Amino acid sequence: MSDAQQAIRDICDSIIKRVDRAYVAGCGKKGEFPEKLWRLWADTGLLAMGLPEEYGGAGGQVSDIVLALDLLHQAGLMLPLAVPNYMSRSPILKHGTEAQKRKYLPPTATGEAFFSFGITEPDSGTNTFKIKTTARRRDDGAYVINGQKAYMTAFKESAHTLLVARTSPYDPKDRKSGISLFIVDTKSPGISSSVMEIAMYLPEKNYMVYYDDVVVPAENRLGAEGQGLEALFDSLNPERLFVAAMNVGQADHVLNKAVEYAKIRAPFDTPIGAYQSIQHPMALAKTHIEAARTMLYLAAERYDSGGKIGLEANMVKILSSEAIRDAANIAMTTFGGAGVDLASDILPFFLAAKNAEVAPVNNQIILSYIAERALGLPKSY
Ligand SMILES: Cc1cc2nc3c(=O)[nH]c(=O)nc-3n(C[C@H](O)[C@H](O)[C@H](O)COP(=O)(O)OP(=O)(O)OC[C@H]3O[C@@H](n4cnc5c(N)ncnc54)[C@H](O)[C@@H]3O)c2cc1C
Repeated sequence: MSDAQQAIRDICDSIIKRVDRAYVAGCGKKGEFPEKLWRLWADTGLLAMGLPEEYGGAGGQVSDIVLALDLLHQAGLMLPLAVPNYMSRSPILKHGTEAQKRKYLPPTATGEAFFSFGITEPDSGTNTFKIKTTARRRDDGAYVINGQKAYMTAFKESAHTLLVARTSPYDPKDRKSGISLFIVDTKSPGISSSVMEIAMYLPEKNYMVYYDDVVVPAENRLGAEGQGLEALFDSLNPERLFVAAMNVGQADHVLNKAVEYAKIRAPFDTPIGAYQSIQHPMALAKTHIEAARTMLYLAAERYDSGGKIGLEANMVKILSSEAIRDAANIAMTTFGGAGVDLASDILPFFLAAKNAEVAPVNNQIILSYIAERALGLPKSY
């Protein structure tokens, strides 16, 4: 382990000593923003990781963020809003103007402001090409946005959102053009939102967001008009790795809880952890966690050294979602009836495991991607 990685471990340990799983679970139950945890991420410098020093960052790379997410999620400190914050930086760094970098990046390092991310729409779902939100260019160069975005994590709490919108209609002959990215102030006139009833006991809310003639200045477009997909794809591979780190961390957390319970729960006097029906699925889940984790850290290192990781990032996303699925599933079995009692704090991980299959992109479409790219099979959709 390098000195930098040891420093990240020390920081994570210091956070874990100051805020515990009970606090995050409580925020999840009450639908309260986890301000204390967010402040610790910021004040200890974790939020500054991965951002160059000239923009207020602490340097470091994707593997450093992966390590921090893994360690904190092992302690049950779930913080999904960290992902849009980290992932919004790569397209800004790569495609943003100098003025955009200087204005929008530094506040993401201090926690003073963060980004939400808006791609999903009620009708388009997984199919980004079908989005209906439009950005129409006015004579003065500004854009007028109309449309609706769904499931937006921590939208209202975020200062800015990275919005994906159509600047020209879908053209089947040139599928990749026509989509643009915008940095939108979430308090802009014409934006309204409503909280979605997401029953996942997450520490942040999800919103349905409505854009009604929202005016966005031309200087807030990120990258060239109609070429937003390229900028977007730059952020998707790191996002898969961040999500995978959260999945394997949570998988370990819920599995460890089940293991401790299995050592003491003894309805027939023998601890249930002695039964192979309990211990074998636990052993298999642990094996899947470590396999996913190993590939995750290898993919992160490859990304940091400039390698292409399209396949690895997608494989890691699947492996990590299977690891948390197996861990949460045996945890529910181990806890028996207590699994659905929120007091045991197992159910949130079971729900997170199901969501890990679907978001940020579903496992089925990832399998299709792997089938096409790694095996040369024909495209099915
Ligand atoms: C808690 C939570 C937080 C989220 N946060 C955000 C956010 O901050 N910003 C944001 O933009 N989005 C966010 N999302 C949305 C998330 O990215 C979408 O739910 C996800 O992309 C899937 O889209 P969908 O739900 O519309 O599913 P659909 O596209 O309707 O797909 C439904 C199912 O159909 C199957 N399917 C679909 N397409 C294919 C295919 N081509 N081949 C095979 N099977 C297929 C899959 O099994 C899939 O699960 C969030 C979602 C949740 C639940």
